Amino acid sequence: MEKRPRHRPHREYPDAKRLILAPEVEVCPICGQGLKSRRNWHSRKTIQTLKGPLFVAGRSKECQNPTCRNYGKRYYASRVWLYSLPQSSYGLDVLAYIGWQHEHEHHQLVEIQRELNQRGIEVNERNVGKLYRQFLVLLSASGEHFKGELMETAKEYGGVIWAVDALQPEGTSGMLYVLYEVLSGKPVGAIQREHVSEKELVKWLDPYQNLPLPVLATLSDGENTLMAALKTCWPQAPHQRCQVHFLNNLVADLLDHDDELRKDMRQDLGGLPKVPQNTPGEPDSPPL
Ligand SMILES: [Zn+2]
Repeated sequence: MEKRPRHRPHREYPDAKRLILAPEVEVCPICGQGLKSRRNWHSRKTIQTLKGPLFVAGRSKECQNPTCRNYGKRYYASRVWLYSLPQSSYGLDVLAYIGWQHEHEHHQLVEIQRELNQRGIEVNERNVGKLYRQFLVLLSASGEHFKGELMETAKEYGGVIWAVDALQPEGTSGMLYVLYEVLSGKPVGAIQREHVSEKELVKWLDPYQNLPLPVLATLSDGENTLMAALKTCWPQAPHQRCQVHFLNNLVADLLDHDDELRKDMRQDLGGLPKVPQNTPGEPDSPPL
């Protein structure tokens, strides 16, 4: 019998907030020259998050120094994958919510589905199960899983850049810490805890610290425990506070106003016929 493609509902979120992320790296790690921004986005998608639908896109940059061995090499906004894992149309906060409610609050998946529906997330029970399994894969990953890829990245760029970001899904007391490698744009591991000490973070990062990789830099937001743990694990590597994070905090208020304005405009202009939307650049190939 012919296999039918599974039904995937087409969802549209015209009021989705917009978030355009810039690459974390601004200078070519090989030649030290400033990278040039590319007009195109390397990825874009609209996802469902616990804070509402979000349109998230990533920009890329490239080295344009003709004498550099990495001439033309592209650098991507890896933080896109912290909002939502590759191929997923749900926010990472939704996965973290499912994981926390199931493992710590002992809610059944069908209950979690109802909770998510009440929070405005459109999802069925089968997909809750699928998202839970994806979450477990992220939690169980270790440095060994990605060793080969990370060695390749280090060869290409002269080293790796480790970054840790933390998120707390609405309605839970669990923090999710995600470790990712910036140059390859890969989320490589995660832990979820209610409180985490510097010692626990160091223990979690230990297998990555032991990988035979030169570390060019570490990156995180301004949280003291996290910065201290990164400095303990990689004392030689310069640490940078994640600028993108900082900028996002600044623009959060602005985004709310922008959304209100757009909603008002839509109400005022609602009776007019639709005009075709501009497409701001074609996407590049994603760095997968
Ligand atoms: Zn270069």
